[in-house]
Amino acid sequence: MLPRVILLATGGTIASQPTEQGLMPLTTADGILDFMPSLRQLAHINARDVFMLDSSNIQPEEWQQLAQAVREAAAEADGIIITHGTDTMAYTASALSFMLLGIQIPIVFTGSQLPLTHPHSDAPGNLREAMAVALSGRAGVYIAFQHKVIYGTRAVKMRTLGFDAFDSINLPPVGFFDADGLHLQPEDGSCKPLAVAEPLAIDSRVFLLKMMPGTDPEIFDHILRAGYRGLVLEAFGLGGLHYIRRNLIDKLQAISQAGVITLVTTQCLYEKADFTIYEVGKGFQGGGIYGAHDMTTEAAVTKLMWALGDLENRRHLLTRCLTHEMGTVT
Ligand code: ASP
Repeated sequence: MLPRVILLATGGTIASQPTEQGLMPLTTADGILDFMPSLRQLAHINARDVFMLDSSNIQPEEWQQLAQAVREAAAEADGIIITHGTDTMAYTASALSFMLLGIQIPIVFTGSQLPLTHPHSDAPGNLREAMAVALSGRAGVYIAFQHKVIYGTRAVKMRTLGFDAFDSINLPPVGFFDADGLHLQPEDGSCKPLAVAEPLAIDSRVFLLKMMPGTDPEIFDHILRAGYRGLVLEAFGLGGLHYIRRNLIDKLQAISQAGVITLVTTQCLYEKADFTIYEVGKGFQGGGIYGAHDMTTEAAVTKLMWALGDLENRRHLLTRCLTHEMGTVT
């Protein structure tokens, strides 16, 4: 008997067609499969449209809807493929990595830089590779794109046009494809998924702030007044903020005391943040301020939203690796 795979379509370039307003997602999940009949030789595939959006329009409400659709589909599938726009795929894949903690089957995101119907499209190859990961039996949330398999919490979109659109940041890709097929790294057991109550619950009131020289400290007052409960702060280098002339540290401490939870990450794409090294990072110390270590910004934002979904029970998980999003904190 063929394995069972469910294709959940959400839109994106892969499903797009030219219109007078520009490229728009219009191809349904069944339409995607009609274009790829060879996939049906590998698995018994059910196709479902969850929504049909350019991924710029995909937000935490859609993550909830998609996570719910995955939960329902997982009961009747050996693997799930999710077609999705590339622009925010790293956010959705990371959010779902937390919201689906402990999932027992492969959940594989893919998409393309050119529509499926374009003669030079990268979609057929990406769909075939996503299918191989979906059939691998390896539980977890992944992105399969242009011969790489990346943990959902480690992907960053690096290119607007290049076919090799995603990289795995601060961790080698978990797998790759060559003429011999799919090669997956063995599980190393360093980041065992936890079972948590109501994992779907998230709170989207998180603000992302990138520091620049001269940032006005009043920005923190606005963040507090706007009702945000969490802040991801992209600091300089290993983790620094200016405090001469414009004192960002006092204001940050004030919003922390008011209950805003801050995750401090770095503007450098590679390697970790560690605000304990430099004197200019000392202002980060104190309750409610946590280091994001080597997490991507996408992972930090989605992990904080997820932690805020049940802060009482998840606050202590902010500094723990839950789904390959961070390396060991030393
Ligand atoms: N704008 C598209 C999207 O993210 C880009 C893509 O899919 O490559 O939906």
